[in-house]
Amino acid sequence: MLVNEMVQLGAKRSGIRELFEYGLKRKAEVGAENVFDFSIGNPSVPAPQAVQEAYKALAARPDTVKVHGYTSATGAMSVREAVAKNLDERFHCGARAQNLFFTCGAAPALMSTMKAMRVEGAEFIVLAPYFPEYPTFIHAVGGKMVTVPANTEDFDLHVEEVEPYFTEHTQAILVNSPNNPSGVVYKKEALEALAELLRKKSAEYGHPIYLIADEPYRELVFDGYETPFIPNLYENTVVCYSWSKSLSLPGERIGYVYVPDRCADSVDLFNAVAGSARALGHICAPATSQYIVEQCCGVMPNIKAYDENRKTLYEALTGYGYTCVYPHGAFYMLIKAPFGTALEFSEKAKEYNILVPPCEPFGCPGYLRLSTCVSHDMILRSLPAFKALIEQGC
Ligand code: PLP
Repeated sequence: MLVNEMVQLGAKRSGIRELFEYGLKRKAEVGAENVFDFSIGNPSVPAPQAVQEAYKALAARPDTVKVHGYTSATGAMSVREAVAKNLDERFHCGARAQNLFFTCGAAPALMSTMKAMRVEGAEFIVLAPYFPEYPTFIHAVGGKMVTVPANTEDFDLHVEEVEPYFTEHTQAILVNSPNNPSGVVYKKEALEALAELLRKKSAEYGHPIYLIADEPYRELVFDGYETPFIPNLYENTVVCYSWSKSLSLPGERIGYVYVPDRCADSVDLFNAVAGSARALGHICAPATSQYIVEQCCGVMPNIKAYDENRKTLYEALTGYGYTCVYPHGAFYMLIKAPFGTALEFSEKAKEYNILVPPCEPFGCPGYLRLSTCVSHDMILRSLPAFKALIEQGC
């Protein structure tokens, strides 16, 4: 006998992956240059040169037993020290090696953090639009997801709209900024207002309400925007970070949980994160990836290509009559289905070899997500198809 729920979860393909695979098939049929695949969030910018050099240096090291060996479950001490130092230098947050737990990317960081907080009846507030794995993660740890609907005026954080969703069971709120899929970057003032609300609600219910900052896109910001470092604004913040997007290393599976000293019950919480990770089968984050980020945690991504892509797409598509959300961060852009439901529009777009996933799984019906981490050439080639699609469909 198998666990039916898990069989179904494993058998159910993500719509984005399905679209991506359909694209591969279609490319074989009509030629790769005629398919415009905006489905998947795989960074298109190569990892920085410093990463390649760090790999070469790592490969040349004589102590291969150490390079490829287990590290401690929390991460190698030299790596934790280097990353903590970098965080402290950039954000003046007093980060220490002891606050960092290295994980196989942001996804397990989120799982371990939520599992650590999942007391009986725990509720996790999620702001739509959200990363489509959140419902699976929260369900898997036994929590209840409470969704704040998206404000489709600007997709920004409006604290007064969040307040009604708190209950005595609220354990944490997940904040993902820069946001996947909207590209919106929450401003400091809005986050400060959220911090005030969280303090008020924590006092009202008599227990700390944590903020889980899901930040794989922290460094991917444009137009002079900055991503406020949330632990500096709200004491009970836990950061889940990865280098999947910033250093273009999604397949290397490397990230961390940062539990600041000033977080409520920080030592217990850190231990609970470590314990939860252990219960989920964590042994250690990949050792080679750890040593790479030890060398490269100060390296900033080259975001020029993403910046150009979003501008070209936004200008062209709005010119044709699409309604788009201007992204100030990450590498996605939301467009509103100009006719039909988002699913219907996505199906119609396939006839033009445009692959764009609907945002129902992101908690944002009526919208679709364009991944702008693609080649600029492909964007330029896709524009006549986008124009024909809206002209024909309306
Ligand atoms: N959180 C968000 C908002 C994401 O977009 C992603 C990946 O796309 C993740 C978490 C998972 O990141 P990782 O690949 O580091 O596990």
